[in-house]
Amino acid sequence: MPELRQNFFTKEWVIIATERAKRPEELATHRPAQTVPSFVESCPFCPGNENKTPPEIMRYPANGNGNSNAPWTVRVIPNKFAALSRETQPTRSLQDVWRRIEGFGFHEVIIDSPDHAACMALLRDEQVGDILRAYKERYSLLSMDRRINHVTIFKNHGADAGASLAHPHSQLIATPVIPSQVRHRLHEALRHYDDDGTCMFCHMVEREVEEQTRIVQKSEHFVAMEVFASATPFATHIFPLRHMASFGDISAAEIADLARVLRSLLAKIYVGLENPDLNFTIRSGPSDYASARHFHWYVSVIPRLTRVAGFELGSGMFINTVLPEAAAEFLRGVKVEKAVGA
Ligand SMILES: [Zn+2]
Ligand SMILES: [Zn+2]
Repeated sequence: MPELRQNFFTKEWVIIATERAKRPEELATHRPAQTVPSFVESCPFCPGNENKTPPEIMRYPANGNGNSNAPWTVRVIPNKFAALSRETQPTRSLQDVWRRIEGFGFHEVIIDSPDHAACMALLRDEQVGDILRAYKERYSLLSMDRRINHVTIFKNHGADAGASLAHPHSQLIATPVIPSQVRHRLHEALRHYDDDGTCMFCHMVEREVEEQTRIVQKSEHFVAMEVFASATPFATHIFPLRHMASFGDISAAEIADLARVLRSLLAKIYVGLENPDLNFTIRSGPSDYASARHFHWYVSVIPRLTRVAGFELGSGMFINTVLPEAAAEFLRGVKVEKAVGA
């Protein structure tokens, strides 16, 4: 029988449609494997083309001369087609029912690797660690800007996930407002804290680790799991085991550990589901939440295996055709050590 499940931390309801249940492997893309070259001369993110991007913000290893051709592992640049502009101020206005803010904000691109073919699932753990370190450095710096209220870090992998450039990269958008979906999660977390006196995420993670059925993998500092009311097949969340409201609080040891867990999860999805398009995003509390007791940041990895249709648009409610427990079991079983050079 189908079942309605409620997400513990978003309070959103999901229909788990076992009637139409698919075996996890039926969702694999079965895409013919294509060979992507490591270097593309016309690609603005490939080495040697540093002067084709807007002036560089930072790189690893650090180098005083922006946009130079010296070897690098990660580069951060402003998005050439930025959604928001750093050249204006977040001036607010309200006229009758029309509220506006000048389009102030930061939109940056993190180039994951000099290698055009190296999607994150195939990178070495140390390289993923460098990318996460760049995320943290930019997150922490932009969070200090008093005009910024929220920073979203995300990756679009594949055309169906919104990637317009093939060279592996991530993005960051810092906005002068807290998006309403984020605000909703913060409200629910605060309500839980007021009622129970605990962080709802710490509470849920503790119970899920005991229960085990939805756990994909657990490391020293993180756990990757399907949530009980997963909205889409194989949507997997990675939670820090230590209570932390802001991604900016992650330590160096935790970055190294998260790099292993994230890379391994992406590799399991890459191998098991045959390189589906996917998004991941770091959901952190707003900049001022560093010491908040009620919120807890996490990474959400969403393979784009199904399309959002009318029911989802009309209700905000999703129909998931894969049992979260089956998805977790499937991902646990995918062996990646041989497929990917760790
Ligand atoms: Zn490239
Ligand atoms: Zn917590």
